[in-house]
Amino acid sequence: MPDKCKDRERILAAGTVDIPTLPVGAIRGYLCFRCFSPSANLMKCSACKRAGYCSKQCQKLDWSIVHKNHCKLFKTVNEVEEQQYQASRTWTQYSKVLYLTVKSIRDAAPNDDILHFVVQAQAYCASCRRTAVQLLTRKIALKRCDKCRLVFSCADCNGIHSPSVCSVYQNFARVEEFRIGFFEDTGKASPVTCTQFPRKDRKLLNGSAGWYDYLVNISDKPQIKDTIKPDFSGLTDIVFQVGSVKDQEDQERMRMFLLCATDNLTMPLTILSALEDVSWDKPHLNIHLLGATGREFLALSNFEEILHLVPGLRSLHITAVGPSSWQGAANQATPFFPKMNLDCCPSCKVDGRKRTVASYRGVYHDFVTTPDYEEPDLVVLFNSGWVDGLDAESHWEPTIKLLIEGGIPALFTTYNVQEAQNETAKLIMLNAKFVVEPDKNKWSGLVPTPEFIDEEYGMWFQNAYRYIIQGRNT
Ligand SMILES: [Zn+2]
Ligand SMILES: [Zn+2]
Ligand SMILES: [Zn+2]
Ligand SMILES: [Zn+2]
Ligand SMILES: [Zn+2]
Repeated sequence: MPDKCKDRERILAAGTVDIPTLPVGAIRGYLCFRCFSPSANLMKCSACKRAGYCSKQCQKLDWSIVHKNHCKLFKTVNEVEEQQYQASRTWTQYSKVLYLTVKSIRDAAPNDDILHFVVQAQAYCASCRRTAVQLLTRKIALKRCDKCRLVFSCADCNGIHSPSVCSVYQNFARVEEFRIGFFEDTGKASPVTCTQFPRKDRKLLNGSAGWYDYLVNISDKPQIKDTIKPDFSGLTDIVFQVGSVKDQEDQERMRMFLLCATDNLTMPLTILSALEDVSWDKPHLNIHLLGATGREFLALSNFEEILHLVPGLRSLHITAVGPSSWQGAANQATPFFPKMNLDCCPSCKVDGRKRTVASYRGVYHDFVTTPDYEEPDLVVLFNSGWVDGLDAESHWEPTIKLLIEGGIPALFTTYNVQEAQNETAKLIMLNAKFVVEPDKNKWSGLVPTPEFIDEEYGMWFQNAYRYIIQGRNT
């Protein structure tokens, strides 16, 4: 019985840990909303028909922790959906309605990530696009694909989805399953793994073909050669031909472990590759992470990888800057949390190498005016969405102008090409000089995340696109 998942709020409150969020598999009806265990006969909440539970205990517990605050709003959403009922909708019609509904939930509860996600990721018939709740009201059966379990067809349509979509969703379902199991085993949602022993010679990331090549030839995972497919989509035929069932399971677990680890390793590797692009090569590295949130703080342990891949590097200092960048006490009056040592592996300790972190709670253009500011070697904005957000003009624009003015190299990443295009269009208007034009990031995370609104069956990835600017065009 999954106990840690049941207890996730308490584990979360105990400190900075990564916990699996509500899985799509729960929203789409095959995992319990509270403990995330799989069941073919989940009991649906009779009021909202959206939350499903494996047992009375899970339902009671979930009601007391979360669902009592959600149920009523889901009922309202269902009523609105009913007013908009159409016997058949195109994807564009469906996604337009969904976008507005999700937006109104976000506006009503901006700090609640689960509430809008339950609606955003809701089950619907892939042909007529009537939602699970609409079909339930009409007593029309909604059949689940028995392979991926995440795509549906209603009894009136009997549609099928393409094998390529099915295979992407199967992979995604395996990631969710792995994350839940890994959290039960270790208390963490995503694995962290660095190159175990610091390299004695430097191999450039920019000369590497990508994750597989890096793991086999730069890091220390040569054992995956011939067992995992180079694109990480599955195991090689050899494993199925000669491996025992146990062996296949072990290899699949290794594939999932490394696939999920790329979602944290994407940060240090994207940084390191940018440093290679701007030919940075000094013994002490100072990085400013802008708009950093819990995600970046959780990934910090993986940043030791930068030390392990660059033999000449003696110290790595990171300053996290942003309104949600904070490691100090909530009531500390000053916004700066000074340099603090982070633990290093035994080899680095013996070598006297150091990792430090500091944080500033506030916007970057304020931070630069303080005595605590030291000019960095690289400024990094991971998936910041700096042109799109509500705070774009007030918060980001003065910062971006200052970065261009200061001539410091700045690395940006985005979730998709559209975001990268929007951001670069704005930067061209500001006359910024591109050191690296926007393009796919070789070191993007490999964990697929379905997005449900922009594109039917669309998936996005951490740091999918990247570009680097430095100074202005003259
Ligand atoms: Zn349960
Ligand atoms: Zn309910
Ligand atoms: Zn249908
Ligand atoms: Zn399928
Ligand atoms: Zn180390």
